[in-house]
Amino acid sequence: MTQQFASDNNAGICPAALSALIEANAAGHAVGYGDDPWTSKAADAVRDVFGAPAAKVFFVFNGTAANALSLSQLCKPYNSIIAHAVSHVDTDEAGACSFFSGGATILPADTPLGKLTPEAVERLATRFSGVHHVKVRAVSITQSTEMGTVYSLAEFAEVCGVARQHGLKVHVDGARLANAIATLGCRPAEAVRGVDVLSFGGTKNGLGFGECVVFFDASLAEEFDWRVKQAGQLNSKMRLATAPWLGLLGNGVWLANARHSNAMAARLRDGIADLPGVSIMFPVQANAVFADIDPKVQAALRAKGWTFYTFLGDTGCRLMCAWDTTPETVARFVRDFAEEAAGT
Ligand SMILES: *Cc1c(COP(=O)(O)O)cnc(C)c1O
Repeated sequence: MTQQFASDNNAGICPAALSALIEANAAGHAVGYGDDPWTSKAADAVRDVFGAPAAKVFFVFNGTAANALSLSQLCKPYNSIIAHAVSHVDTDEAGACSFFSGGATILPADTPLGKLTPEAVERLATRFSGVHHVKVRAVSITQSTEMGTVYSLAEFAEVCGVARQHGLKVHVDGARLANAIATLGCRPAEAVRGVDVLSFGGTKNGLGFGECVVFFDASLAEEFDWRVKQAGQLNSKMRLATAPWLGLLGNGVWLANARHSNAMAARLRDGIADLPGVSIMFPVQANAVFADIDPKVQAALRAKGWTFYTFLGDTGCRLMCAWDTTPETVARFVRDFAEEAAGT
């Protein structure tokens, strides 16, 4: 299939991850369930990236599991988690967090640009108290956000600070954390300052599959192995899932992939921003462009074979770039778009 803008998960596995997989496979037999050299090296590589030698690292198949298992590790059944109203944990995981925690719920905040604000966290953290209400236990921050925006380090620190003031744990949904780090230009350690547990995304960044859960506060990871196993997330041929992480994290491929997809999104934005019948909805700070597009133009683009999602009403479209999106694909899309926009 030709390249599309529907999702970064439409892309395949990146060459560095694939060759690491082929190499691990060629090495023959290895012990199962993560008791192998690739897995321990991959966990070390994750700790190195974040400058967190004491962190506990667990590999799971997907982001829903990473989020739901890490949040359920933090929560008792009567707890709740403050998260954005469009967060993946609240809107795209079929209630997995509640299921795996035995009842914990999400308290959504509908703040601008997909970002939690300190005020919203404060309001939700203090709105209720006492035994008749769910007890707030954690804040879950998506970085980069579902709207393709990025919390600045100051904004991020403020949200973490309010969480801390109220004794709340901080979880980060980092399905696209790499894109945020590429944009911020900071050290990865700075991007996770104040975070207790991170769902670190590999799939959208260039793996075939796989995310990991990083407990920066190692004391929170107690018996997490059982949670992973019970949820059906313990890979028996673990090395084939973890070797690609070595390919991704070695030589900074993960950041190069993120910088590339971000750059393609910026190029796409520049190409369509001034066309008639289009307006860019949010600052493009990661690998997604949200654009308000005339439904007639949308239909014409789809008729030409392009796929993308209309997420917000009838006109709010998401155009998502991936590690392999080429400038030529962007140019072709922009050309088609310009033709159709001129006709309306
Ligand atoms: C894609 C994504 C995930 C992970 O989703 P899975 O399909 O379960 O792997 C988690 N959070 C965000 C913000 C995502 O975009």
